[in-house]
Amino acid sequence: MRALIAGNWKMHGLEAQLDEIETIAASVKASPPAVDVLICPPSTLISRAVQKSAGRLNIGGQDCRSEADGPFTGDVSAEMLKDAGASTVIVGHSERRKHYGESNSMVAKKAQAAWRAGILAIICIGETATQRREGQALSTCGHQIAGSVPDEMTLAANAIGYEPLWAIGTGRSATHDEIVEVHAYIRKCLVTRFGAKGRNLRILYGGSVDPSNAREIMALPEVGGLLVGGESLKAKEFDSILRVV
Ligand code: PEP
Repeated sequence: MRALIAGNWKMHGLEAQLDEIETIAASVKASPPAVDVLICPPSTLISRAVQKSAGRLNIGGQDCRSEADGPFTGDVSAEMLKDAGASTVIVGHSERRKHYGESNSMVAKKAQAAWRAGILAIICIGETATQRREGQALSTCGHQIAGSVPDEMTLAANAIGYEPLWAIGTGRSATHDEIVEVHAYIRKCLVTRFGAKGRNLRILYGGSVDPSNAREIMALPEVGGLLVGGESLKAKEFDSILRVV
């Protein structure tokens, strides 16, 4: 399975920001990287991002509701994301869990909704600073995997995103030892649960990845890709992260 480098734009980006996608797509066309590339802009930009990417990049959503449609003002379903041209959706990002109280079972339903709609899911997990301080990083991730990852999670192109909350947007990525330990544990959980198929699922690291640390993180065992927030908004930085493999 090729590595996946995914950019999460969060709630950033008006139309002018699509120029960054055009620039990255042109660079990918001129010199294809050795990784799969995904950019997840706000849902208002998805269909225009698909046009700008001209088939060179995958475009995804940042969240979906688990129902296909209905009286859920303001929400977007996985079917709607697919209709707009998304190939993938991020579910269970810690900002969704924190600001919207999303539970593990809600996240699992969102992943199932993605598969129902025919798109892939990146299921995010990760411990808080307090949980890490109290020695609960692994147990927290294990609990989140048990509750947020549905039994149907067997297609290798799906991914788990490990994002320690204290590393997101702080400029302080996890240490190599921390990443290696948690990724090994996640792999163990996946293999225990899914057998051989659990070996192929990609585990992405996220949390203050930038062009200066991406190469070393990508070289760590069981790191199958990166989930990049802030640095994915700038074509130059994101493009250089795509070149670290
Ligand atoms: C994220 O929000 O998924 C993320 C990893 O953000 P950042 O790269 O900015 O830490």
